[in-house]
Amino acid sequence: MRVLHFRFFLFLFFLSVLCGSSFAVDRTAFTFTHYDLEIRIDPEGHAIAARGKVRLRNDSHAAQRNLTLQISSSLTWRLIELNGKALPYVAAPYTTDIDHTGAVTEAVVTLPSAVPPKGTLELDLGYAGEIAPDTTRLTRIGVPAETAAHSDWDQVAEPVTAVRGIGYVAWYPVSLPAASLSDNSLFAALDDWKRSQHDTNMRVNLCWVGESELTTVANGRAEGVSRHAMGAGEEAATAMGCSVYSFAPVATTVPAFALAEYTALTRSDTNVYHLPPQAPAAQEYALAAEKVLPFATEWFGAPRTKIQVVQLPNIGDLPFESGPILFTPLELTDRNAIQLRMVHQLVHASFNSPRPWIEEGLAHFAQALERERQGGRAAALAYMQTLLPALQAAEAGATRAAPGLINSTDEVMYRVKAMYVWWMLRDMVGDAALQQAFKKYHPLDDKDTAYMPRLIEQAAKRDLEWFFDDWLYRDRGLPEFRVDSVFPRTTLNGTYVVTVTIANDGDSAAEVPVFVRAEGGERTRRMLVKGKSKAVDRVEVPTTPNEAVVNDGSVPESNMNNNAMAVAPK
Ligand SMILES: [Zn+2]
Repeated sequence: MRVLHFRFFLFLFFLSVLCGSSFAVDRTAFTFTHYDLEIRIDPEGHAIAARGKVRLRNDSHAAQRNLTLQISSSLTWRLIELNGKALPYVAAPYTTDIDHTGAVTEAVVTLPSAVPPKGTLELDLGYAGEIAPDTTRLTRIGVPAETAAHSDWDQVAEPVTAVRGIGYVAWYPVSLPAASLSDNSLFAALDDWKRSQHDTNMRVNLCWVGESELTTVANGRAEGVSRHAMGAGEEAATAMGCSVYSFAPVATTVPAFALAEYTALTRSDTNVYHLPPQAPAAQEYALAAEKVLPFATEWFGAPRTKIQVVQLPNIGDLPFESGPILFTPLELTDRNAIQLRMVHQLVHASFNSPRPWIEEGLAHFAQALERERQGGRAAALAYMQTLLPALQAAEAGATRAAPGLINSTDEVMYRVKAMYVWWMLRDMVGDAALQQAFKKYHPLDDKDTAYMPRLIEQAAKRDLEWFFDDWLYRDRGLPEFRVDSVFPRTTLNGTYVVTVTIANDGDSAAEVPVFVRAEGGERTRRMLVKGKSKAVDRVEVPTTPNEAVVNDGSVPESNMNNNAMAVAPK
């Protein structure tokens, strides 16, 4: 079947080349301004069939005679019409990693007349095919098959159907230039796409057909549910149910849905959609959310929506989060780990920001705070350090022209770096000042980048411009600390004064803890060390000093292995 399809596409491709039809179309010319789709999902047959309308606007500066429509390469175009008339098009596979299959089925449509700049049109579309597990885009760049399967888990299947949108599965039509995971162009391409679709709305009627009642969950706004038996001529046992969801704007949410014979465990702040055998695990998730709720509320305010936990079928599948919704396998793992997951989603249910470094950064910061509640500061720092290598690699590869964290759309930056930035701020200004800034924050007032930094400075009554400059407004990379020298001196009353010089070979300034360890214990100082500079402080210890250490892991730096120096015996 696959082979046949491929030959068919190949045939069309050569045909179009022979006919001299031009493929030099501008894939970014049209903005998809509105989707109105009905997706019929047949889990038993692993299939979907879609019908609907898409509105497009020519946002290029030239009149366009052609447009491109891309859907997953496992789907086939059935219908492309304008004003009730079929449009001529050529469909061919187009290699790109926006879809798990590593390709899309691209229709190059010829319009009856050129659409001028800002001109709009509404197309009637139909397409169908299978959405089966596919790891092509990952395995072809060398990701081991099992890891790939746990990452690209999207499929229409029994007992659980779970499918994410663009970036995973093109189950709705899009149009983007080819993007690849191997050269990192995928994330930039997805960013550009989201930016271009910033006022795009989508309304989807998600309908299942099958023999038993299924529950649909999606990360949009639910607008209604209907259920009815199929009409005459259909098998009596076949039923159909539909749920309408709207997504506005699509840019901030990758539309995703799941359907299964879910049971909903409903609590005041949480719904856990699970299969009956996972009822005990579902209980754990609901309990974990209840347990961390008071702490999350103290920091980030009360939740304004419920968090939704949606079960994925396979243990080991990577969780996917979208605002307060978490798609995850339900495992009875240790309670602490479940609480970390739930606190992240609770922050999303309570605190929103249009800026990723705030929106996601705070959710990750809350996980570090929760880890501290569970096991103390050392446990929190160890938890953050599991994420540090990703940040070190990203900073090493970043160009200095990269945007500062405040505008970054790089996931490692707005998750990991932002988590550290919040942690450092907390170490500098304290819990009360940060919490006060969060209470004053309103996402609608966040119109300039300095809004949140200003709230923090006001609450802390402290000038932090040097910090925001190096960590938020510019990407100056990470600091790189070492102990430059340690000199102990005996005092008249028998104690020691140790003169410690800390060097920062990196470009970012930070306030970093410095420890002088002695036989009878240790003393700590916080030292502000600017980029490419040294700072000196004197620390008094009661007994013979042994060593000086810079950074307990609370400040991310490029090399943590050169941070201690022994005190030479006198
Ligand atoms: Zn998140």
